[in-house]
Parts: sequence; C-alpha cells; structure tokens
Amino acid sequence: MSTAVLNLLPTVPVPAIKPPVEATSLTYRDLERGPFWQKIPAYREVDEKQFLDHSWQAKHTITNIAKLLKALEGLVSPAFIADAEEGFKRAPMSVRVSPYLLSLIDWNDPYGDPLRIQFVPVASRLLPDHPKLDLDSLHEQQDAPVPGLTHRYPDKALFLPLDTCPVYCRFCTRSYAIGLDTEGVEKVHLRANDERWRKAYEYIASRPELEDIVISGGDAYQLRAQQIEDIGMTLLAMPNVRRLRFATKGPAVMPMKILTDDAWTDALTKVVEKGRALHKEVVLHTHFNHPREITGITQDAMNKLMERGITVRNQSVLQRRVNDTPEIMTQLVKRLGHVNVHPYYVYVHDLVKGVEDLRTTLDTALYIEKHVRGATAGFNTPIFVVDAPGGGGKRDAHSYEYYDRESGISVYSAPAVKAGQLFLYYDPLDQLSDTMRRRWADPAEHEVMIRLALAKAREHVR
Ligand code: SF4
Repeated sequence: MSTAVLNLLPTVPVPAIKPPVEATSLTYRDLERGPFWQKIPAYREVDEKQFLDHSWQAKHTITNIAKLLKALEGLVSPAFIADAEEGFKRAPMSVRVSPYLLSLIDWNDPYGDPLRIQFVPVASRLLPDHPKLDLDSLHEQQDAPVPGLTHRYPDKALFLPLDTCPVYCRFCTRSYAIGLDTEGVEKVHLRANDERWRKAYEYIASRPELEDIVISGGDAYQLRAQQIEDIGMTLLAMPNVRRLRFATKGPAVMPMKILTDDAWTDALTKVVEKGRALHKEVVLHTHFNHPREITGITQDAMNKLMERGITVRNQSVLQRRVNDTPEIMTQLVKRLGHVNVHPYYVYVHDLVKGVEDLRTTLDTALYIEKHVRGATAGFNTPIFVVDAPGGGGKRDAHSYEYYDRESGISVYSAPAVKAGQLFLYYDPLDQLSDTMRRRWADPAEHEVMIRLALAKAREHVR
C-alpha cells in the first residue's frame, strides 16, 4: 500500500486508559487513630474513654497562657516558651486550646507545625501589619441592625448568639468580639442574652426577604443543647426562613463532642428533622484548615452525623505555612470528601490585624485554586473567595475588576450586595518589592496607589 493511501485510512485513537494508582499513595485516607494524645506528658495516663469524653475535653481545655506554657514544659525549648509568651502579649486573640488540639501538634517541630501556627503565636514570626488592616475588616458591625445580627446579603443574615468558641484562632475575622479582652484589644461583647436574641428574632421575622440564617458566634458548639433547640425551632417557625446553618469550628478541635455529648447532638438532630418535616434545610458548617486536623475520631463523628442525615460543609481559611500549597490544599479537600464533609469555601485571609504572617497574596490563592480544581468532583471542590473588606461580601477570587500584583491592590465589585461600590483587598507587605514597601510606608502614597487602582477598575466594571 502506498504512503498516500495509508494517510487516508482512519486513525485508531490510542486508548488513554489511566494506569492504576498505588493504594498506598492515597494518603488522604490514612487517618490518625490510636492513643496519639499519650505522647503529651500531661495526657500519658489518659485512656480512650476519658479522652473521648467531651466534658473531660472541656474541663481540661487550656484557657490561660501560664497553663499552656506549663503544659509545654519538657516538650519545647525554654526559648520557644519565651517566644510564645511574648507572642500572646501582642496577639488580638486570647488563648483557648483543647487537649485534642494540643495533642495533634507536632511539638518536635513547633515552629513549622501548621496547627501550632494557627493557635499559638510566637513573637519572632510576627510581621508588621499592612496599614490597611482592621479588627472588623468586614464591617459586620456597620451592617448590624441589632447587635449580633448582620444583614448584608439580600436574603441572608448572620446571627451571633454568643461570643465564645471551643478554641481561639489567631486569624479570627471576628477578633473585634470573640473571646476575652487581650492586652491590645478590648472586645465588643456579644454574650448570650435573651433580650438581645429576642430583638434579633423580631428583626428576622419582620423582613420577608430573609430566608437564610447562619447561626455562628462565637460558635454553636458553645450553645447548650436547649439553646440549640430553642434557636432552631424559633427560626424554623418563621414562614420566611427557609434555611438554617449552624456554624462551628468544633469538629476540627473537639470532634468527640458529637460522639459523647448526646444531648447536644440530639438537639441538633431534632432541629434538622423538624426542618426536614417542614421542607426546610438545616445543615452544619465547619472549619477545617489542614488535613492533619481530620483524624479517626473526626471520621467517627462525621459518620454519626451522616447516619442522622445531617449535611456538613467546610469553610477553610487560606494561611501561609498552613495550607498555602496545592499539595496540602488538595490533600485537605480529598480528606474532607473522604469523611463526607463538603469543601465549600476557601477564604483568602481577611485583612485582620496582628496576623500579617498568616496572610498570602491573592495570586497565591489563584495559583492553588487552579491546581485543586479537577482533583475531585466539582461539588466537592471549594470556591476560593475574597470576603470583600468593607462589607462587599464573598466574591469569587477570580472576579476582581483589577489586580495590580506590584502594589498588591485588588479591586472587587458586588452588584447584588452593594451596587456601585468598589472594595479593596491588599496583599501582605512583605510579599511586595522593596520599592512598593517603601511606598506603603508613606501615608501620602496610599491614596495615589488606591486612586490609580480604582480608576483602572472603573474601566472594567460592568
Ligand atoms: S472558631 Fe471561628 S469565630 Fe471562633 S475564634 Fe476561631 S475563627 Fe473565630
């Protein structure tokens, strides 16, 4: 056959069958089990029954710096302890660490450990704040018709029934209110209070457009079982309310509560079932940031919720040296899926004071998102968002109107939330060039850079 004839024959596609993957490479399925807590001297004698007891966890949660530093004696060097002590003095958040969380930290590498980085500040790693950082960068208080109730989106409200959490995170976006006062921050307190709650209910009931209520805080883990039931049933009884989300960091820092606090888990189940009977959605939103926060205990807890038909979604915060690589973020997303938690959002770190060392650039977020998307099913792939500073709400990180990687300024619009306004996000200073850092050091230059970015954004905005 001549070459000319051969060229006319249809080509048979070479099958692109994927080779099998080594089961041992699927490490997101390897969840820590066994008495891992016994490597901490203080918990050496604690057996599984005791460690899984939520009351024991709550009772032994470390709530002051002296106790934390005492628990770390013998585990870390005196130099690290001194560094942490100084770190807490400068931190906007007070200390609260559960025995479970303390046990998950690798104290052989306290400086590099991604869990330590999120909860125990060390002075030597802190960076100067960007001049545009704020304690309430999302302006939640400005959008609050009633203290502790933020109404920003047309059909959704955020209800903060209390101001405590089972853990205090360094990066908290609500550092203006959550936890105890610190040396540098006097908090706006939103304590559980019937009168304040009644006003919030009245407002929600008076607004027919409000369909979706997030019950956060603080943290829904801190609500007593009866309070979970009362809040859930009161809101479900309102004809306008169609969806409830109880938000809690709990599964990431004390998953055993779901297994052993029967009253709390039963109260949540009761509200979910009532919602189902009324054809209204009630779900749990949680907050895992690193794959190591998910253990065999987490899986058992999530299995229990799944058996009860309770949907769990996750919202992560992108943080430097915690989860700012495609590999770690992909591992987190796959592990969440493995324990039946839907990865919903990854937030580009809010412009919160005192944690500049944790923030990444927007460019980092875009890069990681590109690598995560496609690693698993779309419904299990998180959306990377910038919660637009100043109250624009969550914007898809890619949807900026303008992004100047040199000055680190990105500009967003939010037509359905605040039409006509533009919202600015700023990359961390230490990631910018020397020239740009010098410009940010000069307050007169801020306006010049911001005006230019806004003008460029207005050329694109539609
Ligand atoms: S659990 Fe949530 S609200 Fe509480 S300190 Fe952490 S980030 Fe803030």
